[in-house]
Amino acid sequence: PQFHELELDHRILKAVSKLGWEQPTLIQGTAIPLLLEGKDVVVRARTGSGKTATYALPLIQKILNSKLTATEQCVSAVVLAPTKELCRQSRTVIEQLAELCHKVVRVADISGTTSNTATERHALAERPDIVVATPAKLLNHAKVDGVLDLKKVETLVVDEADLIFAFGYETDFKALLKHLPSIYQSVLVSATLSDDVVRMKGLCLHNPVTLKL
Ligand code: AMP
Repeated sequence: PQFHELELDHRILKAVSKLGWEQPTLIQGTAIPLLLEGKDVVVRARTGSGKTATYALPLIQKILNSKLTATEQCVSAVVLAPTKELCRQSRTVIEQLAELCHKVVRVADISGTTSNTATERHALAERPDIVVATPAKLLNHAKVDGVLDLKKVETLVVDEADLIFAFGYETDFKALLKHLPSIYQSVLVSATLSDDVVRMKGLCLHNPVTLKL
């Protein structure tokens, strides 16, 4: 398909055209329509496949369409990744795409890339739209009352999902899920569909569509 066939907002279509992206990658063309429908999706995708925009564009679209006022605004999405570097990349892509849509989307990076706990708290106090984090760091903040409210989260993205448990984050991941509302959309992006990913799928996805592209 072409980008204009994916039910994306006209601002997003302009943004991708400014980037010179002529057409969606295979995973974008397949997963974006499902994500816009609100489906839970597991995508097998490697770096270089356009995986970041696959989840970033639907997240931005939700924020573009949000009717919440400034005072009601709250964390609408959590993007979990196993490493600081991946969190940084994800944040950069989301912010760049949002900027090209002329939309201020606040993304807090809670992975310890540049910040200590105090600056992270400050970033969370700025009412971010999206929090990008490693599981342990985010859980630390979620456990402290009043710092981070995840009860209005609509989407959970887990990037490089196959590495989350391998990097020792299984307990933290499970504990974090308890801070999310009972209903949310989940997206798992993973290079492999390992047993870990199958287990994670059981924890946070409901009737997911699995795309092995
Ligand atoms: P990723 O797989 O998310 O690491 O993305 C790999 C690279 O592909 C990044 O540099 C993106 O900017 C680029 N990219 C993502 N989607 C497209 C697209 N539809 N057309 C051309 N380049 C793209």
